[in-house]
Amino acid sequence: MQLGEAAKFLKLEPKLHKLLREPARIFKANLKIKLDNGKTKIFQAFRVQYNDARGPCKGGIRYHPEETLDTIKALAAWMTWKCAVVGIPYGGAKGGVVCNTKELSEKELERISRAYIRAFWKHLGPDQDVPAPDVYTSGKEMAWMLDEYEKIIGKKSPAMITGKPLALGGSLGRDSATGMGAVICIREAAKHLKIDLGKATAAVQGAGNVGGWTAKLLQQKFGTKIIAISDSKCAVYSEKGLDVEKVLAHKEKTGQLHNFPGTKCITNEQLLELKTDILVPAALENQITKDNAAKLKCKILAEAANGPATKDADAVLKKTKIFLIPDFLCNAGGVTVSYLEWVQNRTGYYWKLNEVNDKLDEVMTKAFWDVTNFAEKNKITMRVAAYVLAVQKVAEAMKLRGLA
Ligand code: NAD
Repeated sequence: MQLGEAAKFLKLEPKLHKLLREPARIFKANLKIKLDNGKTKIFQAFRVQYNDARGPCKGGIRYHPEETLDTIKALAAWMTWKCAVVGIPYGGAKGGVVCNTKELSEKELERISRAYIRAFWKHLGPDQDVPAPDVYTSGKEMAWMLDEYEKIIGKKSPAMITGKPLALGGSLGRDSATGMGAVICIREAAKHLKIDLGKATAAVQGAGNVGGWTAKLLQQKFGTKIIAISDSKCAVYSEKGLDVEKVLAHKEKTGQLHNFPGTKCITNEQLLELKTDILVPAALENQITKDNAAKLKCKILAEAANGPATKDADAVLKKTKIFLIPDFLCNAGGVTVSYLEWVQNRTGYYWKLNEVNDKLDEVMTKAFWDVTNFAEKNKITMRVAAYVLAVQKVAEAMKLRGLA
């Protein structure tokens, strides 16, 4: 969506702008899978390689019943900008299979994962396109995929996929990476705005991987008071602050946040409108709309989820004093540690957790200040600045290759 604005700012040649608007390659396959009941079923599968001017394509594989090629194309573009903005040497890609994981057995999931690789293996590889987990996929699927790929090519190739289990060459720190990246951005934003995180409050929408880690790390590292955290059903709120570890353990044990002692249950909508220093939407897209954007009362809006604010909301946010950390910068910690996993696989030398986290910190801190300084210098929003810097890097690589 902001590509047009970035292209205008950069005065991109129309030919180049046109190339950047479309994916470089789209692969489709019908996976014929034998179900446990003996019948066969066709599952549609996609891999979109959006741009590889800066390096091998990089992006997750989603298993979702409502998956569409259009969504995958948009997400592949997003990956291109995300890798560029943090300066890791990858292009962007995304893949998916139209399937409902809740209706599939482990064996059926394994057959789908292996069939996906048999369909696309020629286009994948450490120097071509490196997949990772995404919605409804995890290390488990990555392990099957790696195994299938290595069987086909006849040798070990752990760097062909990231987000693997540790035993197969995964990286320490991958689990917490996206939350850690968001927290590093929040730390730098707080420095910029002279907010003391030890005295600040935060509300986090989403108690999954990203929301859970963001809340936990803010509390553990800086003593930030987490006043609310939510799942799809409710948000638990306490003016005095929550013990995040205990809240997450309660969710793990009971399957819900509701009824956590000493807290009040509020709605997700109310959570977003709380008076708090930091607001972290870390659940779903389109949570901040033109209807509630003007009601936000935070100082820092850290978009840990993908696309939590609509385009209309953005227009409203622009007019407020809220300091926005745009999504593809704020949640780039995950892909950054995926890159570190790929580097470790390629060198065969594995880092300790603190080494991984230090490297992540370096990448995220630099990216944060690149975007912030550029936005201030050019009097543009943080989101537009992030797009401009990312598009500029991709465009430069394309020009140098003579692609445009
Ligand atoms: P997750 O499935 O682990 O957690 C999602 C959380 O959102 C859960 O707590 C769920 O209960 C909550 N939720 C679901 N519906 C909700 C609703 N209607 N209102 C409020 N909360 C709701 O997912 P995740 O991996 O934490 O991803 C969260 C967001 O971060 C997504 O937008 C994802 O694309 C993005 N993201 C994730 C990663 C990663 O490494 N996991 C990397 C980049 C971006």
